[in-house]
Amino acid sequence: LDLTVEDKPEDLVMRNPIVTIMGHVDHGKTTLLDSIKNTNVVAGEAGGITQAIGAYRIKTEDGRRITFIDTPGHEAFSEMRARGANVTDIVILIVAADDGVMPQTEEAIDHAKLANVPIVVFVNKCDKPGADPERVKSELMKYGLLAEEYGGDIPFVLGSAKAKTGLKELQDTLLFIAEMQDYKANPNKLASGVVLEAHLDKAKGPVASILVKDGTLEIKDMIVAGTTYGNIKLIENEHAKKVLKAGPSKPVVIYGLNEVPSAGDKFIVINDEKTARSIAEAQAEKKLNAERQKNNS
Ligand code: GDP
Repeated sequence: LDLTVEDKPEDLVMRNPIVTIMGHVDHGKTTLLDSIKNTNVVAGEAGGITQAIGAYRIKTEDGRRITFIDTPGHEAFSEMRARGANVTDIVILIVAADDGVMPQTEEAIDHAKLANVPIVVFVNKCDKPGADPERVKSELMKYGLLAEEYGGDIPFVLGSAKAKTGLKELQDTLLFIAEMQDYKANPNKLASGVVLEAHLDKAKGPVASILVKDGTLEIKDMIVAGTTYGNIKLIENEHAKKVLKAGPSKPVVIYGLNEVPSAGDKFIVINDEKTARSIAEAQAEKKLNAERQKNNS
């Protein structure tokens, strides 16, 4: 489903880069996300991030923002990509300096290459006695990831998620890439984006965490997300605060869908209930047929 309309250049404005951390289990994804989260509480949000919604925004020292996807795991990531939902702009490949390249490191490299997005390598656990960041650099050469000092174009940041070193350099690197890539979106149109996670709340009904990729989502919008649809009754941000709208690169929680969508589903605003329902039904039919075909083969 694609209702893309060409944007006029004057409608496009800068948006935050969207970043995903990938790497082998235990190499420090969770620790890195936590360290970044805790050192960059968005101003005016003294309580910090109060609800896990699959993604969150941080404010860097110079006031710019970065949207981090709370790593959904490689499986969910490839699922999203398979369905054409390119959620991320940049991949941080985290590799533990005392362990080096491991099977899921390779997987992460494949994902990033297929998604065709810039990679930043964060060589983690450099605080450990057995750390050998140079070995990580030479191992990654075999995968075509050549460090800048070796004439390549892959930024390598050495640090420790636990000791909170290298984090500033990592953020600066992300912001530099964002500047070069010039990520833009048009906030003056109906929203579109992707579902990050969803579940059924006993009291509130279907709850979906979504990432707005383009346009602006507004309360009362009628959206279609995969095979589900509905009027948005409530929008909340990662601080569990009610908001009336959400622009590009913003992750929010929405309430009001008729059913629970799947992670990786794309969503669009269709401000007409009949059309929304028929698109959702058509997509449900398509999904059913695809499943039948899969079962028959
Ligand atoms: P994940 O599986 O990739 O999310 O890895 P975790 O963030 O859960 O980290 C796995 C283990 O490595 C935990 O015990 C962390 O405390 C530890 N760890 C993560 N980063 C560092 C680091 O920079 N230095 C040290 N020494 N330990 C770390």
